[in-house]
Amino acid sequence: MSGKRPRTQRRVEERAARKLVRDKERLFELSVGGSQERPIEVPSTSVIELRVEDVIRCIQCTGQYRIRAHEAPASGIRRVDVTCRHCGAPRSLWFRIVSDEPN
Ligand SMILES: [Zn+2]
Repeated sequence: MSGKRPRTQRRVEERAARKLVRDKERLFELSVGGSQERPIEVPSTSVIELRVEDVIRCIQCTGQYRIRAHEAPASGIRRVDVTCRHCGAPRSLWFRIVSDEPN
């Protein structure tokens, strides 16, 4: 154990931690809800905010989200901009309204 260099070790750990954060964000973007191409399907707009605050958790720390904005960039598509209440990470969640009613 002699001759170890704690500062270097700490840098290595910090770099690994940052990489893990980036990897998780990338994974999130590829997962359902992480992009407009892969939205979470919901039966109506009214369930979106409930789901964001009660069901979906921050990918970094499993904290609860706070909704900052709720946008409709396209017909039947909703984007909810959120911030994690715990770690403060900003993120956008994508939804698609899948209704059984004929349009
Ligand atoms: Zn978080």
